[in-house]
Amino acid sequence: MRLVLLGGGHAHAAALRELRGKDVTLVTPYPHHTYSGMLPGFVAGHYRLDEIRIDIAGLAARAGAKLVLGRVAALDAATRVARLEDGQSIEYDRASLNLGSESNAPAHALAAKPFEPFLEHWLDAKDRVKSVAVVGAGAAGVELAMAVAHRTPARVTLYSDRPMFRAAVARRIARALQRSGVELRAGTAVSAVQEGPVIVAGSTQEAFDLVIWAAGAAPLPWLRESGLATDERGFVLVDDRLRSVSHPEVFAAGDCATLRGAPHPKSGVYAVRHAEVLAHNLRDGQPRRYVPQRRALALISCGARHAIVDWGGMSAEGAWVWRWKDRIDRRWVEGFRAPAG
Ligand SMILES: Cc1cc2nc3c(=O)[nH]c(=O)nc-3n(C[C@H](O)[C@H](O)[C@H](O)COP(=O)(O)OP(=O)(O)OC[C@H]3O[C@@H](n4cnc5c(N)ncnc54)[C@H](O)[C@@H]3O)c2cc1C
Repeated sequence: MRLVLLGGGHAHAAALRELRGKDVTLVTPYPHHTYSGMLPGFVAGHYRLDEIRIDIAGLAARAGAKLVLGRVAALDAATRVARLEDGQSIEYDRASLNLGSESNAPAHALAAKPFEPFLEHWLDAKDRVKSVAVVGAGAAGVELAMAVAHRTPARVTLYSDRPMFRAAVARRIARALQRSGVELRAGTAVSAVQEGPVIVAGSTQEAFDLVIWAAGAAPLPWLRESGLATDERGFVLVDDRLRSVSHPEVFAAGDCATLRGAPHPKSGVYAVRHAEVLAHNLRDGQPRRYVPQRRALALISCGARHAIVDWGGMSAEGAWVWRWKDRIDRRWVEGFRAPAG
Protein backbone atom coordinates (compact mmCIF):
# COMPACT_ATOMS: atom_id res chain seq x y z
CA MET A 1 0.00 0.00 0.00
CA ARG A 2 1.47 3.34 -1.10
CA LEU A 3 1.11 5.93 1.64
CA VAL A 4 1.81 9.49 0.52
CA LEU A 5 2.29 12.26 3.09
CA LEU A 6 1.61 15.69 1.60
CA GLY A 7 3.27 18.49 3.60
CA GLY A 8 5.85 18.20 6.34
CA GLY A 9 4.10 19.98 9.19
CA HIS A 10 3.90 19.21 12.92
CA ALA A 11 1.69 16.15 12.52
CA HIS A 12 3.73 14.44 9.80
CA ALA A 13 7.01 15.15 11.57
CA ALA A 14 5.64 13.26 14.57
CA ALA A 15 3.92 10.56 12.49
CA LEU A 16 7.09 9.78 10.50
CA ARG A 17 8.74 8.44 13.64
CA GLU A 18 6.09 5.73 13.80
CA LEU A 19 5.83 4.74 10.15
CA ARG A 20 9.11 2.87 9.77
CA GLY A 21 8.92 -0.11 7.47
CA LYS A 22 5.94 1.19 5.47
CA ASP A 23 5.95 2.25 1.82
CA VAL A 24 5.90 5.97 2.54
CA THR A 25 6.58 8.99 0.32
CA LEU A 26 6.77 12.48 1.83
CA VAL A 27 6.21 15.53 -0.37
CA THR A 28 7.29 18.84 1.13
CA PRO A 29 8.96 21.94 -0.33
CA TYR A 30 11.88 22.19 2.09
CA PRO A 31 14.18 19.67 3.81
CA HIS A 32 13.30 21.26 7.14
CA HIS A 33 10.15 22.32 8.97
CA THR A 34 10.14 25.64 10.83
CA TYR A 35 8.47 25.40 14.22
CA SER A 36 5.93 28.22 14.58
CA GLY A 37 6.07 28.31 18.38
CA MET A 38 9.68 29.54 18.22
CA LEU A 39 9.44 31.77 15.15
CA PRO A 40 8.65 34.97 17.08
CA GLY A 41 11.58 34.07 19.38
CA PHE A 42 13.82 33.90 16.31
CA VAL A 43 12.55 37.32 15.15
CA ALA A 44 13.22 38.67 18.67
CA GLY A 45 16.80 37.37 18.45
CA HIS A 46 16.51 34.66 21.14
CA TYR A 47 17.10 31.68 18.82
CA ARG A 48 19.26 30.75 15.88
CA LEU A 49 17.56 29.44 12.76
CA ASP A 50 18.84 25.90 13.29
CA GLU A 51 17.28 25.90 16.78
CA ILE A 52 13.75 26.47 15.45
CA ARG A 53 13.91 23.96 12.61
CA ILE A 54 13.15 20.26 12.45
CA ASP A 55 15.23 18.25 10.00
CA ILE A 56 12.34 16.68 8.12
CA ALA A 57 14.62 15.17 5.45
CA GLY A 58 16.60 13.40 8.19
CA LEU A 59 13.39 12.15 9.79
CA ALA A 60 12.20 10.78 6.44
CA ALA A 61 15.54 9.05 5.90
CA ARG A 62 15.43 7.45 9.37
CA ALA A 63 11.87 6.25 8.69
CA GLY A 64 12.97 4.75 5.34
CA ALA A 65 10.53 7.09 3.55
CA LYS A 66 11.12 8.46 0.09
CA LEU A 67 11.45 12.25 0.15
CA VAL A 68 10.20 14.36 -2.75
CA LEU A 69 11.12 18.03 -2.40
CA GLY A 70 8.28 19.82 -4.14
CA ARG A 71 5.06 21.68 -3.70
CA VAL A 72 1.68 20.10 -4.31
CA ALA A 73 -0.33 22.18 -6.81
CA ALA A 74 -3.41 19.98 -7.12
CA LEU A 75 -4.98 16.79 -5.86
CA ASP A 76 -7.48 14.65 -7.69
CA ALA A 77 -9.23 12.63 -5.03
CA ALA A 78 -11.22 10.68 -7.63
CA THR A 79 -8.14 9.23 -9.37
CA ARG A 80 -5.90 9.37 -6.25
CA VAL A 81 -3.17 11.49 -7.78
CA ALA A 82 -1.29 14.49 -6.39
CA ARG A 83 0.26 16.86 -8.91
CA LEU A 84 3.30 18.91 -8.02
CA GLU A 85 4.23 22.38 -9.25
CA ASP A 86 7.15 20.91 -11.21
CA GLY A 87 4.78 18.68 -13.20
CA GLN A 88 5.41 15.41 -11.32
CA SER A 89 2.40 13.19 -10.56
CA ILE A 90 2.33 11.01 -7.46
CA GLU A 91 -0.22 8.22 -7.13
CA TYR A 92 -1.38 6.96 -3.76
CA ASP A 93 -3.51 4.29 -2.16
CA ARG A 94 -3.69 6.26 1.05
CA ALA A 95 -2.80 9.92 1.47
CA SER A 96 -2.40 12.20 4.44
CA LEU A 97 -2.50 15.99 4.27
CA ASN A 98 -0.60 18.17 6.75
CA LEU A 99 -0.17 21.27 4.63
CA GLY A 100 -0.82 24.01 7.14
CA SER A 101 -2.57 27.22 6.17
CA GLU A 102 -1.67 30.52 4.56
CA SER A 103 -1.95 34.09 5.81
CA ASN A 104 -3.81 35.19 2.68
CA ALA A 105 -1.97 38.50 2.62
CA PRO A 106 -2.77 41.19 0.07
CA ALA A 107 -0.08 42.34 -2.35
CA HIS A 108 2.49 44.72 -0.75
CA ALA A 109 2.22 42.95 2.64
CA LEU A 110 4.53 40.22 3.91
CA ALA A 111 2.57 37.11 4.88
CA ALA A 112 3.54 35.63 8.25
CA LYS A 113 2.80 32.20 6.72
CA PRO A 114 4.23 30.30 4.93
CA PHE A 115 7.31 30.69 7.09
CA GLU A 116 10.16 30.21 4.61
CA PRO A 117 9.41 33.24 2.38
CA PHE A 118 8.62 35.22 5.54
CA LEU A 119 12.03 34.40 7.04
CA GLU A 120 13.87 35.15 3.82
CA HIS A 121 12.24 38.58 3.57
CA TRP A 122 12.65 39.32 7.27
CA LEU A 123 16.37 38.47 7.26
CA ASP A 124 16.82 40.86 4.38
CA ALA A 125 14.73 43.68 5.92
CA LYS A 126 15.40 43.49 9.67
CA ASP A 127 18.42 45.80 9.79
CA ARG A 128 16.92 48.63 7.77
CA VAL A 129 13.24 48.89 8.75
CA LYS A 130 12.32 52.02 10.70
CA SER A 131 8.57 51.54 10.77
CA VAL A 132 6.72 48.23 10.79
CA ALA A 133 2.99 47.51 10.85
CA VAL A 134 1.59 44.16 11.91
CA VAL A 135 -1.98 43.41 10.86
CA GLY A 136 -3.94 40.98 13.02
CA ALA A 137 -3.75 40.87 16.81
CA GLY A 138 -4.25 37.19 17.51
CA ALA A 139 -1.39 35.29 19.18
CA ALA A 140 0.76 35.34 16.02
CA GLY A 141 0.32 39.08 15.45
CA VAL A 142 0.96 40.22 19.02
CA GLU A 143 4.00 37.94 19.35
CA LEU A 144 5.46 39.14 16.07
CA ALA A 145 4.81 42.82 16.86
CA MET A 146 6.60 42.56 20.23
CA ALA A 147 9.40 40.48 18.72
CA VAL A 148 10.04 43.12 16.04
CA ALA A 149 9.96 45.89 18.65
CA HIS A 150 12.44 43.94 20.80
CA ARG A 151 14.87 43.15 17.98
CA THR A 152 14.84 46.46 16.06
CA PRO A 153 14.64 50.16 16.83
CA ALA A 154 11.67 50.37 14.43
CA ARG A 155 8.40 52.05 15.37
CA VAL A 156 5.88 49.17 15.51
CA THR A 157 2.11 49.56 15.05
CA LEU A 158 -0.33 46.68 15.57
CA TYR A 159 -3.72 46.80 13.85
CA SER A 160 -6.57 44.91 15.46
CA ASP A 161 -10.11 44.90 14.06
CA ARG A 162 -11.66 42.93 16.94
CA PRO A 163 -10.81 41.51 20.37
CA MET A 164 -9.11 38.11 20.10
CA PHE A 165 -8.65 37.24 23.77
CA ARG A 166 -10.82 37.12 26.85
CA ALA A 167 -10.73 40.32 28.91
CA ALA A 168 -8.14 39.35 31.55
CA VAL A 169 -5.64 38.14 28.93
CA ALA A 170 -6.35 41.10 26.65
CA ARG A 171 -5.42 43.45 29.53
CA ARG A 172 -2.13 41.62 30.10
CA ILE A 173 -1.39 41.78 26.38
CA ALA A 174 -2.24 45.50 26.19
CA ARG A 175 0.20 46.20 29.05
CA ALA A 176 2.91 44.07 27.45
CA LEU A 177 2.47 45.87 24.12
CA GLN A 178 2.79 49.18 25.90
CA ARG A 179 5.96 48.08 27.71
CA SER A 180 7.38 46.92 24.38
CA GLY A 181 6.61 50.27 22.77
CA VAL A 182 4.12 48.77 20.31
CA GLU A 183 1.28 51.09 19.42
CA LEU A 184 -2.00 49.17 19.39
CA ARG A 185 -4.69 50.40 17.01
CA ALA A 186 -7.63 48.55 18.52
CA GLY A 187 -10.91 48.39 16.60
CA THR A 188 -9.15 49.43 13.40
CA ALA A 189 -9.84 47.25 10.38
CA VAL A 190 -7.28 47.48 7.58
CA SER A 191 -9.20 47.73 4.33
CA ALA A 192 -6.24 47.65 1.92
CA VAL A 193 -2.47 47.71 1.64
CA GLN A 194 -1.29 49.87 -1.21
CA GLU A 195 2.11 50.12 -2.84
CA GLY A 196 4.60 51.77 -0.49
CA PRO A 197 3.51 49.85 1.55
CA VAL A 198 0.68 52.10 2.70
CA ILE A 199 -2.00 50.89 5.08
CA VAL A 200 -5.52 52.07 4.40
CA ALA A 201 -7.83 51.91 7.43
CA GLY A 202 -11.12 53.75 7.13
CA SER A 203 -10.34 57.23 5.88
CA THR A 204 -6.70 57.16 7.05
CA GLN A 205 -3.58 56.17 5.15
CA GLU A 206 -0.18 55.51 6.69
CA ALA A 207 3.12 54.50 5.10
CA PHE A 208 5.47 51.91 6.62
CA ASP A 209 8.74 50.29 5.60
CA LEU A 210 7.19 46.85 6.10
CA VAL A 211 3.67 45.51 6.64
CA ILE A 212 3.46 42.02 8.17
CA TRP A 213 0.13 40.26 7.63
CA ALA A 214 -0.82 37.93 10.48
CA ALA A 215 -4.60 38.08 10.18
CA GLY A 216 -6.23 34.69 10.05
CA ALA A 217 -5.50 31.31 8.52
CA ALA A 218 -6.69 30.59 4.99
CA PRO A 219 -6.70 27.18 3.29
CA LEU A 220 -4.49 26.30 0.34
CA PRO A 221 -6.66 27.36 -2.61
CA TRP A 222 -6.44 24.09 -4.57
CA LEU A 223 -8.03 22.03 -1.77
CA ARG A 224 -11.46 23.23 -2.91
CA GLU A 225 -10.92 21.79 -6.39
CA SER A 226 -9.58 18.45 -5.12
CA GLY A 227 -12.98 16.77 -4.88
CA LEU A 228 -12.50 16.33 -1.13
CA ALA A 229 -15.37 17.60 1.01
CA THR A 230 -14.39 20.89 2.63
CA ASP A 231 -15.91 23.24 5.19
CA GLU A 232 -17.34 26.57 4.04
CA ARG A 233 -13.87 28.17 4.11
CA GLY A 234 -12.19 25.43 2.07
CA PHE A 235 -10.42 23.38 4.78
CA VAL A 236 -10.65 19.59 4.43
CA LEU A 237 -13.57 18.24 6.43
CA VAL A 238 -12.55 15.19 8.50
CA ASP A 239 -14.34 12.80 10.83
CA ASP A 240 -13.18 11.94 14.33
CA ARG A 241 -10.65 9.48 12.87
CA LEU A 242 -9.10 12.40 10.94
CA ARG A 243 -10.31 10.81 7.66
CA SER A 244 -11.86 12.88 4.90
CA VAL A 245 -15.62 12.61 5.24
CA SER A 246 -15.88 12.11 1.47
CA HIS A 247 -12.75 9.99 0.75
CA PRO A 248 -11.82 7.75 3.70
CA GLU A 249 -8.45 6.84 2.14
CA VAL A 250 -7.41 10.48 2.64
CA PHE A 251 -6.46 11.74 6.10
CA ALA A 252 -5.87 15.37 7.08
CA ALA A 253 -4.41 16.95 10.20
CA GLY A 254 -3.32 20.30 11.56
CA ASP A 255 -4.47 23.63 10.16
CA CYS A 256 -5.58 22.21 6.79
CA ALA A 257 -8.26 20.03 8.46
CA THR A 258 -11.55 20.92 10.12
CA LEU A 259 -13.14 18.39 12.44
CA ARG A 260 -16.79 17.84 11.48
CA GLY A 261 -19.11 18.87 14.29
CA ALA A 262 -16.31 20.07 16.58
CA PRO A 263 -14.19 22.68 14.80
CA HIS A 264 -11.38 24.12 16.91
CA PRO A 265 -8.91 26.99 16.39
CA LYS A 266 -6.14 26.61 13.84
CA SER A 267 -3.17 26.34 16.15
CA GLY A 268 -0.05 24.27 16.49
CA VAL A 269 -1.24 22.86 19.82
CA TYR A 270 -4.01 20.99 17.98
CA ALA A 271 -1.74 19.96 15.10
CA VAL A 272 0.52 18.27 17.65
CA ARG A 273 -2.43 16.50 19.28
CA HIS A 274 -3.67 15.30 15.86
CA ALA A 275 -0.28 13.73 15.28
CA GLU A 276 -0.74 11.05 17.94
CA VAL A 277 -4.00 9.80 16.44
CA LEU A 278 -2.86 10.30 12.85
CA ALA A 279 0.26 8.17 13.29
CA HIS A 280 -1.83 5.33 14.69
CA ASN A 281 -4.53 5.59 12.02
CA LEU A 282 -2.07 5.71 9.12
CA ARG A 283 -0.72 2.34 10.17
CA ASP A 284 -3.11 -0.51 9.44
CA GLY A 285 -5.45 -1.59 12.19
CA GLN A 286 -8.39 -0.23 14.10
CA PRO A 287 -8.54 3.55 13.60
CA ARG A 288 -8.56 5.52 16.83
CA ARG A 289 -10.83 8.46 17.58
CA TYR A 290 -9.52 11.96 18.03
CA VAL A 291 -11.11 13.70 20.97
CA PRO A 292 -10.22 17.40 21.01
CA GLN A 293 -8.98 18.67 24.34
CA ARG A 294 -11.48 20.98 25.98
CA ARG A 295 -8.94 23.66 26.83
CA ALA A 296 -5.65 24.40 25.22
CA LEU A 297 -2.61 25.91 26.86
CA ALA A 298 -1.73 29.24 25.25
CA LEU A 299 1.73 30.70 25.88
CA ILE A 300 2.29 34.13 24.38
CA SER A 301 5.82 35.48 24.20
CA CYS A 302 6.24 39.22 24.65
CA GLY A 303 9.42 40.12 22.80
CA ALA A 304 11.73 40.31 25.78
CA ARG A 305 12.12 37.09 27.76
CA HIS A 306 8.64 37.52 29.24
CA ALA A 307 5.48 35.56 28.41
CA ILE A 308 1.79 35.28 29.28
CA VAL A 309 0.05 31.98 29.99
CA ASP A 310 -3.67 31.44 29.45
CA TRP A 311 -5.13 28.15 30.54
CA GLY A 312 -8.59 27.10 31.60
CA GLY A 313 -9.79 30.55 32.62
CA MET A 314 -6.60 31.43 34.51
CA SER A 315 -3.75 33.59 33.36
CA ALA A 316 -0.34 34.64 34.64
CA GLU A 317 2.84 36.18 33.27
CA GLY A 318 6.49 36.71 33.92
CA ALA A 319 10.01 35.67 33.04
CA TRP A 320 9.23 32.24 34.53
CA VAL A 321 6.45 31.74 31.94
CA TRP A 322 8.92 32.53 29.17
CA ARG A 323 11.41 30.02 30.59
CA TRP A 324 8.62 27.43 30.80
CA LYS A 325 7.60 28.07 27.17
CA ASP A 326 11.25 27.99 26.12
CA ARG A 327 11.71 24.56 27.76
CA ILE A 328 8.55 23.14 26.14
CA ASP A 329 9.48 24.47 22.70
CA ARG A 330 13.12 23.37 22.83
CA ARG A 331 12.11 19.90 24.04
CA TRP A 332 9.62 19.59 21.18
CA VAL A 333 12.19 20.45 18.49
CA GLU A 334 14.99 18.48 20.11
CA GLY A 335 12.74 15.41 20.22
CA PHE A 336 13.20 15.18 16.45
CA ARG A 337 17.01 15.29 16.40
CA ALA A 338 18.86 12.18 15.30
CA PRO A 339 20.02 10.10 18.26
CA ALA A 340 23.71 10.73 18.98
CA GLY A 341 26.16 8.21 17.56
C1 LIG B 1 4.04 33.82 13.81
C2 LIG B 1 3.21 32.66 14.23
C3 LIG B 1 3.37 32.14 15.51
C4 LIG B 1 2.60 31.07 15.94
N1 LIG B 1 2.81 30.59 17.20
C5 LIG B 1 2.06 29.56 17.63
C6 LIG B 1 2.26 29.06 18.95
O1 LIG B 1 3.08 29.54 19.73
N2 LIG B 1 1.48 28.01 19.35
C7 LIG B 1 0.56 27.45 18.52
O2 LIG B 1 -0.12 26.50 18.93
N3 LIG B 1 0.35 27.91 17.28
C8 LIG B 1 1.08 28.95 16.80
N4 LIG B 1 0.86 29.44 15.54
C9 LIG B 1 -0.09 28.75 14.66
C10 LIG B 1 0.67 27.61 13.99
O3 LIG B 1 1.64 28.14 13.13
C11 LIG B 1 -0.15 26.69 13.15
O4 LIG B 1 -1.37 26.39 13.76
C12 LIG B 1 0.64 25.39 12.95
O5 LIG B 1 1.84 25.70 12.25
C13 LIG B 1 -0.15 24.38 12.19
O6 LIG B 1 0.64 23.25 12.02
P1 LIG B 1 0.51 22.35 10.75
O7 LIG B 1 1.34 21.15 11.02
O8 LIG B 1 -0.90 22.16 10.39
O9 LIG B 1 1.11 23.22 9.55
P2 LIG B 1 2.52 23.91 9.32
O10 LIG B 1 3.30 23.98 10.55
O11 LIG B 1 2.22 25.20 8.62
O12 LIG B 1 3.22 22.95 8.30
C14 LIG B 1 2.74 22.78 6.99
C15 LIG B 1 3.80 22.15 6.15
O13 LIG B 1 3.30 21.91 4.84
C16 LIG B 1 4.21 22.38 3.87
N5 LIG B 1 3.46 22.82 2.69
C17 LIG B 1 2.75 23.96 2.55
N6 LIG B 1 2.20 24.02 1.31
C18 LIG B 1 2.58 22.89 0.68
C19 LIG B 1 2.33 22.36 -0.62
N7 LIG B 1 1.59 23.02 -1.53
N8 LIG B 1 2.87 21.16 -0.93
C20 LIG B 1 3.63 20.48 -0.03
N9 LIG B 1 3.88 20.93 1.22
C21 LIG B 1 3.37 22.12 1.56
C22 LIG B 1 4.94 23.53 4.56
O14 LIG B 1 6.18 23.79 3.96
C23 LIG B 1 5.04 23.02 5.97
O15 LIG B 1 6.18 22.22 6.13
C24 LIG B 1 1.62 30.51 15.08
C25 LIG B 1 1.44 31.04 13.80
C26 LIG B 1 2.21 32.11 13.37
C27 LIG B 1 1.98 32.70 11.99
